[in-house]
Amino acid sequence: MPKPLSDRVLGLKPSATVEMTERVRNARASGRKIIGLSSGDPNIATDPRIIAAAERAMREGDTHYGPPAGLPALREAIVRREVSRSGVTYDPSDVIVTPGGKFALLTALMAVVQSGDEVLVPEPGWVSYGPCVQLCGGVPVGISMLDRIDEATLERAVSPRAKAIIINSPVNPTGRVLSAAEIADVLGFAERHDLWILFDQVYCDLLYSGQFPTPARLSGGQARVMVIDSLSKTFGMTGWRLGYLALPTGLSKSVLKFIQHSIYCVPGFVQAAGITALSLTDELVPRYREMFRSRLATAAARLSSVPGIACSMPPATFYLFPSVEAADTEVAKRWLDEIDVATVPGSSFGRGGVGHLRLSLTCPDRELDDALERIARIGIAA
Ligand code: PMP
Repeated sequence: MPKPLSDRVLGLKPSATVEMTERVRNARASGRKIIGLSSGDPNIATDPRIIAAAERAMREGDTHYGPPAGLPALREAIVRREVSRSGVTYDPSDVIVTPGGKFALLTALMAVVQSGDEVLVPEPGWVSYGPCVQLCGGVPVGISMLDRIDEATLERAVSPRAKAIIINSPVNPTGRVLSAAEIADVLGFAERHDLWILFDQVYCDLLYSGQFPTPARLSGGQARVMVIDSLSKTFGMTGWRLGYLALPTGLSKSVLKFIQHSIYCVPGFVQAAGITALSLTDELVPRYREMFRSRLATAAARLSSVPGIACSMPPATFYLFPSVEAADTEVAKRWLDEIDVATVPGSSFGRGGVGHLRLSLTCPDRELDDALERIARIGIAA
C-alpha cells in the first residue's frame, strides 16, 4: 500500500450542495421521481445562438491551446460588462478567463494565500469558500452575516494572520444584496488591516430591486478588490465552465503563472460561446430575471403560509432561505424521504445558516408548484 493521500484532500469536507445534487441524480437514474430544489443550476437551456458560436469555432479550428489569459475579444467584452457591474474600467490585461467562477476564486486564493494565512469567509456562505481556502494552505475564519455584516463582527474575527476577506453579493444562500454602507464598511476594514477583498458577484445579473453596491467602485477599492464572476448563472451555462477574474492593475502577470501551470487555458470554443452570450445580455437576461423573480415571489408567499416557516422575498438570486422552527437537517431529510423534495439544510452553509433551508428555484414551474403543495401538506413537524 503506498503512503496515504495528502491531508489537503483527506481533510476537506465534501460539498453539501454537490453531494445532494448527485444524490438526486442517482435516485432519478434508479427510477425515483425527486423534485430538485437543491442545485444552483438554473433550468435555462443555453440559447441556440450561443451553442452555434461554439460549434462554429470548433469547425473553424479553435481546438488548440489558446492564450492562457483568454481570448482578447472575450476579455474586451468582459471589460465592457464590468463597466456596468463594478463601475470600473479595467484594462483587458487585468482580466483572466477561468473555467467557471469556482476556479476564478481558487486562482485568486492561490495568488493571495500563504501557508497558515487566515481568510475571512461569510457565514452563511457558499459551501466552497472554506475548502478553497484550505486547498491553498490557508485557514478559513467564519464571519457571521445572516442579516447584515457589521464592523464589530469583522474586528472580532480578524487577527494579524488574516490576509483576505471573501465577500459575496448577491449572497448564496440568502439572496440578500449587501448595502452600500456594508460594502463601505468592508472596504474600510480591509484598508485598516491591509487585506485583499475577493468579491464574488456571480449572481449580480439576477437583481430584482435596488442598487448593486460593489467595493471596486469605491475610492481605493479597485487596488485591493479581486472580482470573481461567471456566466454560469446568468446564461444557463453552468456546464460550459466559463468565468473570470478582474484584478487590480498589474497583478495578472504573476497570477497567470498559476493558470499556465494548471489548466493552461479555457477551451477557445467555450470562450467563443461566451462572447456571443455576453453580446446577447440585453435580450436574454431580462427574460430570465423575470422568470426567477415571479417564481421567488410566488414560492415565498406560499411557504410563509406553512406553520413554522417564515420566508421573505429576496432582492436577488434564485434562492429562498426560509427559517424553520425545527432542526433544519431533520426537515430536509424528511422532505427528501417522505415527499421526494430535495433541499439543502441551512447549516451546510455554516453556523449562521442553522435553522434555515435553502430552496433553489431552478426546476420547472410545474414541479415547483407540486413541491410547494407537498410541503404545505406535510409541514415541518415530525
Ligand atoms: N460563487 C457562488 C456564490 C456560487 O453559488 C457559485 C456556484 N454555485 C459559484 C461562485 C461558482 O459557479 P461557477 O463555477 O459555475 O461559475
